[in-house]
Amino acid sequence: SRGTSPVPPARRPRLTVLSGPSGVGKSTVVAHMRKAHPEVWLSVSCTTRKPRPGEQEGVQYFFVDDEQFDKLIANGELLEWAEFAGNRYGTPRKAVLDRLDAGEPVLLEIDLQGARQVRETMPEAQLVFLAPPSWDELVRRLTGRGTESPEVIERRLAAAKVELAAESEFDTTLVNTSVEDVARELLALLS
Ligand code: 5GP
Repeated sequence: SRGTSPVPPARRPRLTVLSGPSGVGKSTVVAHMRKAHPEVWLSVSCTTRKPRPGEQEGVQYFFVDDEQFDKLIANGELLEWAEFAGNRYGTPRKAVLDRLDAGEPVLLEIDLQGARQVRETMPEAQLVFLAPPSWDELVRRLTGRGTESPEVIERRLAAAKVELAAESEFDTTLVNTSVEDVARELLALLS
């Protein structure tokens, strides 16, 4: 013995960050997984983006205006935040930390800039990159959503090109060939 009392292996609950290019299908994968496993807790972000048809306050996002978002930043209420395609998005800090303190795993579905911030502030976080099967497939998905103007799609494609190169910064890559498969793989990574 080296004179220290045995320390139980650190079994800290995991913070898992799912990131990847816009349009790769992050939210679809997460929604699919949570349908089968509603107990999986997903952080609900704040955004200055306007709700899309069907989106509900507090479900997909907390929808806030620029002034409210400024306040969240100023008050240190965001674990990370980023500007993406002209809107701001951020993760409420308290809900995530409370959850981890309670011993429950936490899943964030955020963009690459946010994932990098989490890596800095919470190095124990597990970073998972969701990759498209191919670039053509990503373009198809981004174009096919039908809810965005051509201008917004262009901006998102440009961002996606840069984001694809970030795969090497992540702990794990999941390739989104089938929603079912990836949802299962993601679930396995959470616990
Ligand atoms: P959308 O507008 O399509 O819902 O989301 C656009 C992008 O913002 C997606 O890549 C999504 O993962 C990301 N996003 C959503 N919430 C957050 C957040 O809280 N922080 C960061 N950094 N990105 C987010």
